Amino acid sequence: MLDLTYETPKPKVIAGAKQDWELVIGMEIHAQVASRAKLFSGASTEFGQEPNSNVAFVDAAMPGMLPVINDFCVEQAVRTGLGLKAQINLFSAFDRKNYFYPDLPQGYQISQLYHPIVGEGEVLVELSPGIARLVRIERIHLEQDAGKSIHDMDPTMSFVDLNRTGVALMEIVSRPDIRGPEEAAAYVLKLRQILRYLGTCDGNMQNGNLRADVNVSVCRPGQYEKYQASQDFSHLGTRCEIKNMNSTRFIQAAIDYEARRQIAILEDGGTIIQETRLYDPDKGETRSMRSKEEAHDYRYFPCPDLLPLEIEQTWIDDIAAAMPELPDTKKARFVTDYGMTDYDAGVLTAEVENAAFFETVARGRDGKIAANWVINELFGRLNKEGLGIADTPVSAAQLGGMLDLLASGEISGKMAKGLFEILWTEGGDPAEQAAKHGMKQVTDTGAIEAAVDEVIAANPGQVEKAMANPKLAGWFVGQVLKATGGKANPATVNQLVAQKLGL
Ligand code: ADP
Ligand code: MG
Repeated sequence: MLDLTYETPKPKVIAGAKQDWELVIGMEIHAQVASRAKLFSGASTEFGQEPNSNVAFVDAAMPGMLPVINDFCVEQAVRTGLGLKAQINLFSAFDRKNYFYPDLPQGYQISQLYHPIVGEGEVLVELSPGIARLVRIERIHLEQDAGKSIHDMDPTMSFVDLNRTGVALMEIVSRPDIRGPEEAAAYVLKLRQILRYLGTCDGNMQNGNLRADVNVSVCRPGQYEKYQASQDFSHLGTRCEIKNMNSTRFIQAAIDYEARRQIAILEDGGTIIQETRLYDPDKGETRSMRSKEEAHDYRYFPCPDLLPLEIEQTWIDDIAAAMPELPDTKKARFVTDYGMTDYDAGVLTAEVENAAFFETVARGRDGKIAANWVINELFGRLNKEGLGIADTPVSAAQLGGMLDLLASGEISGKMAKGLFEILWTEGGDPAEQAAKHGMKQVTDTGAIEAAVDEVIAANPGQVEKAMANPKLAGWFVGQVLKATGGKANPATVNQLVAQKLGL
């Protein structure tokens, strides 16, 4: 059912001063697990609460407190892995990543370095119809988030909020398969879409629930193919990592800037130093945060407080059996089942709620017409008013009812637009509203015929012209529609005018 015969896009080529360069990008995406409790404590994860109100003793690293794994979070990681067609590891284990930071009371973060819960997978990133990049996933591991230091509340003091401390994150690591700024943005959006379909992460980038570390390097044409053939990283350029990006627009701008910076250094005969950089959106540039030499030695070791995580294949099978339909499959199904274009299917499946709304409208009706109305009238209007599908004043049942009136010829297309407006502002039952506002298309040929005869009889001069030049018959159609208050079925009027004028 799923047609994966996509063409692979060309990499973005950046012209340097002396020669051409290609971009190579790999991403580490931190996705907050949509769980009400933290990874190792029962404290709430609710956003925007009073600082330090969602903190269990273990989150605050009180002596003697022990972490207890939240199996709901484990399940979400497994679901995410399955959604990315990835290997699920029956054996995984937690490690301590040690570093000192004021918002990390334990002095270490519990993560999974040596044995992640999810192994290799893939994400298909469609860039334009028929053209897609297959980005390989290296791994997904579970880890704790850190707290937050607040430096801008007081001129002399910093504050620490531990509400986020210990919240479960999935770190999704890609292979360096992304080849341009637009692809990087599309990759983030595709991953976000899959996570939202799965319900494993809400994808809210503004709140930082989905954020990316973007690794960027440049190489001469041909080098990437050598890397692909051997998986030997030495064919690629040295990378820099841009930390903590939570906007696809800034991700693109940062990659663009970073590529040009690296090319300028290389063409000047210099070398790239592997380092961590930060993007400054005000200046539109990246700047060094720390170099590899200053990088932390995290002194990873297996966390002695937690047993290795061993899960059973039957449990994974149960989760797999309950997986929802994912974006690629849904989109392909919309194209075949409803006969809509690839583009329309993409629009309707962008958000799972939108797709569900459309399917309710389309059930038992013409899918193409339903798609048209949902996309052009409903989504168009929602967008204009800055509303989401959850806030739509016109329900799927109302829109469907309206389409039934249109399909049976009871109302015309023009009336339908008016009725949509009435449903939007006043609500109500479509048939009742149509009756109340006198919207009834005249399909009764007798009545239309009489109107046509009348117009013809009153305009002998026009009749003569129209008989000489059939293009002028449109004038009569317009007159009849006017005479019937726009209620006559235009197709019928057309037909009768042509017939009466002998055209
Ligand atoms: P670390 O543990 O230091 O973050 P990893 O080896 O796990 O390093 O790689 C982190 C990310 O960097 C991965 O997404 C990987 O695909 C990407 N990456 C590795 N080498 C390159 C490169 N030469 N250019 C661009 N991205 C790269
Ligand atoms: Mg990293």
